Amino acid sequence: MAHEVTFIPGDGTGPELAEATRRVLEATGVELSWDRQEAGIDEYEAHGNPFPEATLASLRRTRVGIKGPTTTPVGSGFRSVNVLLRKELDLYACVRPCKAYAGVRTRFPETDIVIVRENTEDLYAGIEFERGSEENARLRACLAELGAAVREDAGISIKPISVAGSERIVEAAFDYAKRNNRRKVTAVHKANIMKFSDGLFLEVAREVAKRHPEVEFEDRIVDNLCNQLVSRPEEYDVLVLPNLYGDIVSDLGAGMIGGLGLAPGANIGTQAAVFEATHGSAPKYKGQNKVNPTALMLSGAMMLKHLGEDEASLRMEEAIAAVIAKGERVTYDLKPRRDDPTAVGTSEFADAVIEEMSSR
Ligand code: NAD
Repeated sequence: MAHEVTFIPGDGTGPELAEATRRVLEATGVELSWDRQEAGIDEYEAHGNPFPEATLASLRRTRVGIKGPTTTPVGSGFRSVNVLLRKELDLYACVRPCKAYAGVRTRFPETDIVIVRENTEDLYAGIEFERGSEENARLRACLAELGAAVREDAGISIKPISVAGSERIVEAAFDYAKRNNRRKVTAVHKANIMKFSDGLFLEVAREVAKRHPEVEFEDRIVDNLCNQLVSRPEEYDVLVLPNLYGDIVSDLGAGMIGGLGLAPGANIGTQAAVFEATHGSAPKYKGQNKVNPTALMLSGAMMLKHLGEDEASLRMEEAIAAVIAKGERVTYDLKPRRDDPTAVGTSEFADAVIEEMSSR
């Protein structure tokens, strides 16, 4: 029976990338039935809502989606579609593999890490008190009573990290490690400074690790981890991090493997899993058939694995890797010079991957 998948092209360069990815996914031979749904700035401009109820309903029904990037206007307009998605579907784990493929220019060719980022808590929980507001004054008065004075002109963001939230993200990291034959999980934190939030995260991580003795476990302080990642990336495998560190280390990881065009991702939760690239909608390249679809394609390969189609997932990833290694039919960002006239477009890159798969 075909796997039903919610297909969200997104906006900016999203539709081009999504179309290229859809063609490659279909070429694997896995039977997929697409439920196309809209989200993003074009949908907002056409119908006044960037994230229609029908899109959410489809994801709730199919429980699996692949999504092109969506633009979030700065300052005004509407809330990020990704934040809404995360909240509505409780997508608590953001999984981002960062693997340096042969043929990509990077100073860190040994990199092959997987970042598992908690997506719902921490300083991103949205519990903020604006400088000068009445709520801020009440909170400061409360804190002063507790012996924790805060300057009058301070803005305040709260960092909640719970046992339940930490437990499920660390479990997700071990689960990923086991399913993907990974040897080690590293919990990343700043428990030496933030004892009651990061300290709790670390304590829970240690407890969860005891349930999985077959996978090695260690912890690192986040600043030290960054230093070590760029000196000895080969020593790291699966990293599990609270939200803020996860966000920052994800971009570090994307940089280490040669850029955003290569970094895939999955947002996994209790109700659904949504697969999408780490990068944004790159609107300045919209409609130019120019940007690199690798990140979304690799997200698609992750989706196949999630659907239990391991062989097709591996075949697709190997074909993408082979096209990149040959370095001929690749997009501008993978050429030695960005103005290389031999660079191909988004759609031609997909053709090359499809040909590579059929020749295997
Ligand atoms: P961006 O990732 O869209 O682009 C930054 C730059 O990275 C681009 O100008 C381009 O040079 C390069 N780049 C990105 N993707 C590439 C690709 N596939 N191939 C080649 N080069 C690529 O980041 P931004 O400009 O900060 O954000 C643009 C919009 O995307 C914003 O509205 C932002 O909110 C949104 N965004 C969406 C998502 C998402 O939907 N998951 C994620 C991040 C940002």
